[in-house]
Amino acid sequence: MSQLDTEVRPSNFIRNIIDEDLASGKHTSVHTRFPPEPNGFLHIGHAKSICLNFGIARDYQGQCNLRFDDTNPEKENIDYVNSIKEDVRWLGFQWSGDIHYSSDYFDALYGYAVELINKGLAYVCFLNGEQMREYRGTLKEPGKNSPYRDTPIAENLALFEKMRAGGFKEGECSLRAKIDMASPFMCMRDPVLYRIKFAHHHQTGDKWCIYPMYDFTHCISDALEHITHSLCTLEFQDNRRLYDWVLDHLDDFNYDGRTRQYEFSRLNLEYTVMSKRKLNELVTRKLVNGWDDPRMPTIAGLRRRGFTPSSIREFCDRIGITKQDNLVEIGMLEACIREELNDNAPRAMAVINPIRMVIENYPQGQTEIISAPVHPNKPELGERQLPFSRELYIDAEDFREEANKHYKRLVLGKEVRLRNAYIVKAERCDKDEQGNVTTVYCSYDADTKGTNPADGRKVKGVIHWVEQASALPAEFRLYDRLFSLANPAGAETLDEALNPDSLQIRHGFVEPDLKVAVAEKAYQFEREGYFCADCKDSSAEHLVFNRTVALRDSFA
Ligand code: ATP
Ligand code: MG
Repeated sequence: MSQLDTEVRPSNFIRNIIDEDLASGKHTSVHTRFPPEPNGFLHIGHAKSICLNFGIARDYQGQCNLRFDDTNPEKENIDYVNSIKEDVRWLGFQWSGDIHYSSDYFDALYGYAVELINKGLAYVCFLNGEQMREYRGTLKEPGKNSPYRDTPIAENLALFEKMRAGGFKEGECSLRAKIDMASPFMCMRDPVLYRIKFAHHHQTGDKWCIYPMYDFTHCISDALEHITHSLCTLEFQDNRRLYDWVLDHLDDFNYDGRTRQYEFSRLNLEYTVMSKRKLNELVTRKLVNGWDDPRMPTIAGLRRRGFTPSSIREFCDRIGITKQDNLVEIGMLEACIREELNDNAPRAMAVINPIRMVIENYPQGQTEIISAPVHPNKPELGERQLPFSRELYIDAEDFREEANKHYKRLVLGKEVRLRNAYIVKAERCDKDEQGNVTTVYCSYDADTKGTNPADGRKVKGVIHWVEQASALPAEFRLYDRLFSLANPAGAETLDEALNPDSLQIRHGFVEPDLKVAVAEKAYQFEREGYFCADCKDSSAEHLVFNRTVALRDSFA
């Protein structure tokens, strides 16, 4: 059994609806879909929808389609299509059958629009955008009928055909549904079904110069694919009326048991944004280094940062599916990866802010090999071999000339344990012109390798180290939250919400075994955090490690 099969998933109100539909015989099987628009990379909010839709299909032995909702050719492209496919698979899911595109149905959709015109339920309207807004009314006031609302059917058919043939300019006219200009639901006030766009499409090329709107396209695509439960986020709640109206008025779909729409709350995560428009702005204005920048909430960014598919699925299970809008703490996402890596990641030592340590009473020219466990709770993972000699690196943070007793690291005249190795005592230090310590001179107690001093001296502090001669130089990228505001979506501009210190770069050293570090293989750098090699910039000659998450939740 794969890991996916053994994960326990909590129920939710949508699964309850499905259980009822299966029990009552309304449906005999379940068919969901995940319908991204290929106008950006997928983010952690999409992961919530992916886990819901594909998770249901898997658990009910049903099917889940991947359908690109591609009705806005100007904003979409094939690179986004490819990244989305890759991300869905990486998360551990596989769509049923072939990939679908809304654009596969452009011919069918055109036919259904003609059917509505023939039934007197759609008309070609020449109001411009501004007039249309004016006629639409407000939440408090009903709208007014368009002067084109009562154009005879035959004339509408000819006008729509002329729209399709390129006989009108962009914005000159549109096809609208004839519903109710006084409806309390704004989306029912004669919504636009088709608009003119002379745009090249990544799937259909230049075949079309009219493109159907989301509300018209989505319900029909669902119906054509025999989707049973069409799951979307709450902002489409009102649009459910239109979803049903369109299908109710088309002969092919007016039957019991056809697709139904259900809404759940979207994921909002602290200290980040989830709107693709804003993510796109971060990328195009180079405020981050691309869609897969490890600070981005995209799947590609989280992956590069060191998150695993299972940690993201676990997060989606923990947040659950409800109709309650809320802002999820970033700590919840971090806890999922931290817990997983604490259990699984091999341990290693890395010195991020190096200063030299010289052990003056350790024999010149001698090197010994110290054995240390790969994982403290998993002896089956074996041991790693650490060279040890007279000259080491330790972290600048782990030494002070003087400190009170709360500082459990190395202090002049005091002792500390070098992790997995000996107890050392700091004797004196060198400093540079700015007064920064560059070298600490120590003495070591040769009888303390892996054991406490025989005379009962208590040494509480433990610090990590690497041996100078064998250590590998490495670049460390320390990430913090991308925004300094918990809810950056509420800020006027992205710029004012950005955290200027979201990336800090350090140059230090790692133990020699890390020569083999590869992307997506995580390590716990002892006392520092969880890291993995960067998939783009790291190589055996120039190691680059991304900090996935710190050891503890520093915001809690
Ligand atoms: P945006 O409005 O930023 O463009 P979107 O919701 O339009 O995002 P789509 O590509 O259309 O993006 O989304 C595909 C699917 O993922 C939809 O069913 C949508 O409801 C769902 N989805 C998108 N964002 C979230 C989110 N933050 N939480 C849960 N589901 C989401
Ligand atoms: Mg959308």
